[in-house]
Amino acid sequence: MSSFPKDVFWLDSVSDSRLPREPLPHSLDVDIAIVGGGYSGLWAAYYLKRLDPALNIVVLEQQRVGYGASGRNGGWLMGEFSHMESYLQKLDGDRSRAARALITGIVSEVASVCELERIDCDLVYSGGIYAAARFPEQLSRAKSALESYRGMGFGEDAFHWLDARETGQLVNVRSPLGAVYAQHVAALHPAKLVQGLAEAVERLGVVIYEQTNCREVSGKQVQTDRGVVRAEVVVSGLEGYSNSTDSALSGRILPVVSRVVATEPLSKTQWATIGFAKRPVFSDCSRLVSYVQRSRDDRLIFGARGSYRFDGKPRLETALTDREVASHRAYLQDFFPSLSNVSLTHAWCGNLGFARRMAPVAVCDHKSGLAVLGGYGGEGVGASNLFGRTLADLILQRDTELSSMPWAHSQPVRKVLQRWEPEPLPWLAYRGINAVFAWEERLDLGRGRGWLKPLSHRLANWCQRLL
Ligand SMILES: Cc1cc2nc3c(=O)[nH]c(=O)nc-3n(C[C@H](O)[C@H](O)[C@H](O)COP(=O)(O)OP(=O)(O)OC[C@H]3O[C@@H](n4cnc5c(N)ncnc54)[C@H](O)[C@@H]3O)c2cc1C
Repeated sequence: MSSFPKDVFWLDSVSDSRLPREPLPHSLDVDIAIVGGGYSGLWAAYYLKRLDPALNIVVLEQQRVGYGASGRNGGWLMGEFSHMESYLQKLDGDRSRAARALITGIVSEVASVCELERIDCDLVYSGGIYAAARFPEQLSRAKSALESYRGMGFGEDAFHWLDARETGQLVNVRSPLGAVYAQHVAALHPAKLVQGLAEAVERLGVVIYEQTNCREVSGKQVQTDRGVVRAEVVVSGLEGYSNSTDSALSGRILPVVSRVVATEPLSKTQWATIGFAKRPVFSDCSRLVSYVQRSRDDRLIFGARGSYRFDGKPRLETALTDREVASHRAYLQDFFPSLSNVSLTHAWCGNLGFARRMAPVAVCDHKSGLAVLGGYGGEGVGASNLFGRTLADLILQRDTELSSMPWAHSQPVRKVLQRWEPEPLPWLAYRGINAVFAWEERLDLGRGRGWLKPLSHRLANWCQRLL
């Protein structure tokens, strides 16, 4: 495929006039072979080359750089990541402080690389609002989210409480009741970031081969449709596509699909009604997940909900079905009733990668020559930078603060990334948990038999703990 899918607003809005990069011309021997041209692969390449300019590094991408989640996400750059508590609870004192600083420092690190490398990706360091926005039960969820940040040691400077009035002033959703304000979050244009990063690594001397399908990814060797690449270390940055190649990663990072729509550019009056003046990103405390940003050209980008395929393979078609678009439209109106007549110009989906323990990892096993980074769930825009930096230190065997963090591993991949249970268990679990969450939310919104609410809450809390 030589052009980007037009359904994805971000990919549609960047210049597609550039010809695709050349595919791998023939078999090669290199120092490092990186599979996947998304943030993970490119951040790893960037830091490796900065640390050791003499390294001979290639990136192998099946389609074009940014074709995967990195070119089609919600554009939240977060100074936090999925299940970070599982790492932070292993640390205390100075080490815990250092880990928190690394995590919250992600946003300024990405911003400073963008400045250094002249990557204009519409980045605005505007904070994130995690709000009780549609029904009263969300208030206790928002408060317990804040407690959990406090439990991890984050202070007021990282996360603080907004009351109903403050929340409503920032984002005028259906019923703003209060919110957690996350300081270290930025909004950006994801495709501009991934494309700018690719150009930056090329300037450093990394060679990117596009249109190169890697069929078999193993330690020290990648078998592609166009030849074999042998390397001291092979890095898998396949994330949501990990389960679609023949590799040591099969069954260890599973894809879940997330869906997004973009509106036409909204008028000044429409924005004045719903807020977002400073472009904060926004999510309501729904267990079904929602994520919103105001793009630089004044569209509302609205992501929510997901699905999982029975075979654990990524969804390859990008467009949403009419039914999926209709459900997104209804959901969007639930948040912003004033936008009921707005046109949707784009609707798309993409694949997230989930590790069995739900927390991302950076692993380099020098003995086998296989390294991997990923398992970010829906929070990889910022995390991929931190894990790319970590992996560079692990590959170069540098004894640093990053390589001593609990998310950094020098063991065999199979010891770090547990295998998911065989089908139909993941499919049943996903469907079951989603159905419980959707049922609970319907009741919370007053659409159903109210007397069943306590039961739905108990069941949903149990499912949440299971996750
Ligand atoms: C709809 C959606 C919304 C999201 N929103 C956010 C958000 O707002 N904030 C946030 O933090 N995170 C978000 N995420 C998650 C985030 O986008 C990802 O975690 C991150 O982009 C992962 O980057 P990656 O490089 O690891 O994977 P990817 O970007 O998926 O890169 C993997 C690459 O591998 C390539 N590939 C696949 N198979 C092969 C093969 N056989 N051979 C060679 N190459 C191959 C793919 O084409 C792809 O380019 C979202 C994800 C999605 C899908």
